[in-house]
Formats: sequence, structure tokens, C-alpha cells
Amino acid sequence: MSSHKKVLLAAPRGYCAGVDRAVETVERALEKYGTPVYVRKEIVHNRYVVDTLAERGAIFVDETFEVPAGSHLVFSAHGVSPAVHAEAEKLSLKTLDASCPLVTKVHNEVKRFARDGYHILFIGHQGHEEVEGTTGEAPEVTHLVDGVAGVDALPEFLADEDKLMWLSQTTLSVDETMEIVTLLHQKYPQLQDPPSDDICYATQNRQVAVKKISEAADLVIVVGSQNSSNSKRLVEVALQSGAKASYLVDYAHQIDPAWFEGVTTIGVSSGASVPEILVTGVLELLAQHGFDEVEEVRTAAEKITFALPRDLRPPRA
Ligand code: SF4
Repeated sequence: MSSHKKVLLAAPRGYCAGVDRAVETVERALEKYGTPVYVRKEIVHNRYVVDTLAERGAIFVDETFEVPAGSHLVFSAHGVSPAVHAEAEKLSLKTLDASCPLVTKVHNEVKRFARDGYHILFIGHQGHEEVEGTTGEAPEVTHLVDGVAGVDALPEFLADEDKLMWLSQTTLSVDETMEIVTLLHQKYPQLQDPPSDDICYATQNRQVAVKKISEAADLVIVVGSQNSSNSKRLVEVALQSGAKASYLVDYAHQIDPAWFEGVTTIGVSSGASVPEILVTGVLELLAQHGFDEVEEVRTAAEKITFALPRDLRPPRA
């Protein structure tokens, strides 16, 4: 075995189109309206991004009622339920919706299937903001399935329902979701599949790239925050795909050099809410420890972009 130290850098990694749009929404809102601009919840689940925007004058709040009447309020990339929109309207807030269009697509599916008389088995993580927003579109007919264990916890009456559909959060593990869907089909033979995937392109692409580097890496470092669903899934995927160890770090300084013991190849990736500057910091630290040869392993090219909310689009030339 070669003892030559190297880094395999996953591509695609980092910012997706939805995060890019959400962060730019807050930046443009600050430029256009001045401070303060309020943001409900973390605009994206990344500590560095939130801290940087806060320094520029964004005020992050947990709940809409904390925002002074008449202010500008940005909804985060994870989307919000109709109840939150209603609350903002009551306070006469000027809202800017930075919900990712791929999350909005799932909201629309929930609304459509609920209107058509379906019960919806929604695969996702309890308490995640995206799940609260999406299931809030039709809470009376949406049943959360959180992990494999969630299949057994579903209410018994669903077995007698003719119209059953499954949908999911956008940032899940593709493999675990397919396992849950198989179990749901076994339990409910009448269950129907949605017309298209809900797990978004960015989540899928980052998981495929991490799988690839994990086949050859002893250790995989994922840059991302603990509350970032897609980042946490990358660590799980790395461990399932051959990496002997995998860690999630927000910053390079959280890396423990003891992790490098007996390691010759390190895989590096980052979640969809992570700016590249944080990956650069990790690569610099690895180079200081002799891992200075970096090979990018690309499994897909991404060209997708989303338009900003209408009020913030630049005027047409
Ligand atoms: S991870 Fe996917 S769903 Fe979430 S913001 Fe990015 S593109 Fe949108």
C-alpha cells in the first residue's frame, strides 16, 4: 500500500442553487431596504453564513411574532407553512420568500394530493423546519414517517384508506428513503408513488460524489453544521460506503490531528449550505499535515440556478 498522503475532493460539493438564492435574497434585501432586515430561522443551516449575515445587519428570529409590525421579513430556504404566512400578514410584515423552489414543489404536491382526497405518508425528520412547513400544508391528512422505526408507528386506520401517497423531505439519504418506501409498500399494498423524486438534485449529487471518494478514503471529512440535514447524511453515506471514519466539522480548527493516524487518503466534501471558503480552510490545514496533493473527483456537473424573489430581481435592461 502506498504511504503517499493525498486528498480526494468530492465534486459537486457545497452551495446548491437554493442556498445560493436564499443567501443572495438576504444580501439584496439589506442593500435595497437597509437594516434591519429580519429573517425567520436560520436562512440556511450554516453557522458561518448566519454569523456573516448577522454582522451585516440581518436579525434572525425564531418566530414571526418577534418581528416588529411593518418590518421586512425573509422566510428561510426551508419553507414555511400557511399558518406562518397568515401570521406575517396579520402583522403587516413585508415578506420575502427565500424558500427553495424545490421545497415549494413538495408543498404543492402535499396541497394537490390532500385536495384529491389522499392521506400522505411523509418521510422526514421530526422537528426539521422543512418538515414543519411542508406537513403544515395539510396537517390533518399528513403522517410523518421518521426513519425505519416510523413505519411501525403509523396509525392503524391507514390500512383501510384507498388513497395513500408517499412524499419526502428534500435532503434525506437516498438509500435509507428507498428502504423506508419498500417497507411502506409491504405494509400498504395500495400505496402510490409520487410522479417525481422529492430528494433534490443537490442532495443526490453530493451523496453520489461522497460514495465515490469513500471507496478509496480512510477518513472522510464533511464540512457542514450539526443542524444541516444534507450534511449529516453525507457523513452517514461515507461510513456506509467504505470510509473507516467520517466527521462533520463547521471549521478547520475543529479537526483533531489524531484522526490522521494511519491515514493516507482523506476524502473531503461539504454540505449544500457550505461556502467554499470553509473547504479551503480545511484543505489548508490538511496540507500543513502533509496532505498537500488534492485530486478532485467529479461525478456530476451542476448548472441549475433559481431566480430571486420578484421584488429583488434587478431591473431589466
Ligand atoms: S438542498 Fe436541495 S432543496 Fe435544499 S435548498 Fe438546496 S436545492 Fe433546495
